[in-house]
Amino acid sequence: RAKAGGGNGYRFFVPEMNAEAVARLALENSLREAVETGQFLVYYQPKVDVATLRPVGLEALIRWKHPERGWVSPAAFIPVAEEMGLINVIGEWVMTQALRQVAEWEGRGIEPLPIAVNISVRQLIDRSVVETVRGILFAEGANPRWLDLEITESIMMDNLETIVDALRALRDLGLRIAVDDFGTGHSSLALLRSLPITSLKVDRSFLNDVTTKADDAAIAATIIAMGQKLGLTVVAEGIERDDQLDFLRDHGCHQAQGFLIARPMPADALERRFVRNGRWVAEVEPAAV
Ligand code: C2E
Ligand code: MG
Ligand code: MG
Ligand code: MG
Repeated sequence: RAKAGGGNGYRFFVPEMNAEAVARLALENSLREAVETGQFLVYYQPKVDVATLRPVGLEALIRWKHPERGWVSPAAFIPVAEEMGLINVIGEWVMTQALRQVAEWEGRGIEPLPIAVNISVRQLIDRSVVETVRGILFAEGANPRWLDLEITESIMMDNLETIVDALRALRDLGLRIAVDDFGTGHSSLALLRSLPITSLKVDRSFLNDVTTKADDAAIAATIIAMGQKLGLTVVAEGIERDDQLDFLRDHGCHQAQGFLIARPMPADALERRFVRNGRWVAEVEPAAV
């Protein structure tokens, strides 16, 4: 019989399960197997300075290529990994890979750019989160200045005190903290007052129609101005078009990230496209023939 929820053991099918439950169980088992057999990759997407378009940071994004399912979207499996308690081990793996990558770049004389890693609330409420992060930084020979953590605001209110304590201790290690998908949660403004954050990422839903819808423009402009007044770095996510970039420039948003600049990609592809003579530059022009 299926073990009810939780635990790290595989669960088994029982006849009375409906199709949805069967699919979910299959996904859970595939996820355990993915962790055990190493089916994950890390892709990187640049965040560029809005004025110069030079990369000033990267975001690490997990990718899962399942042998039969093919690519599975993080939106589909991260929430499941969180519920299963697998996100801690997955998140540590991503952080390790990301810091190893910056250290590797530094070792080859390439300017190390800060890398942002998404961290789940499940990781933050773990008592040993600070020791875990410190341990990974040490093991990879990484400077804490190279690491940013991105936290999504949506589910933070439940454990606010624990989370604030963890974030303070993490800040004390020397790393930075961004609120991801800003504006989509229930208590965005309240959180700004209580969290020790350094950066705010404006959710892309506010930026999609920013040049055609007056309300969206007002909201985006206000979030950017507020971030500036609070002394935070303001990052616009999901930038796909030039008109959006123009808006960001006009409103003094600091950084932009999105398909317009680059899709998430493997580290070597990113390096070919954006590194010249050990420096990160605005997209490299194709070599002259
Ligand atoms: P996020 O942290 O907000 O990451 C940004 C998402 O937007 C990424 O989706 C990225 O590929 C996508 N994106 C970037 N530029 C554009 C654009 O111009 N247009 C559009 N439409 N999308 C764009 P992805 O990689 O599928 O990840 C989805 C979410 O999964 C992430 O949202 C994050 O919440 C979560 N996630 C990804 N990797 C990790 C991880 O290692 N750990 C944890 N805990 N969560 C992760
Ligand atoms: Mg993120
Ligand atoms: Mg985001
Ligand atoms: Mg988002």
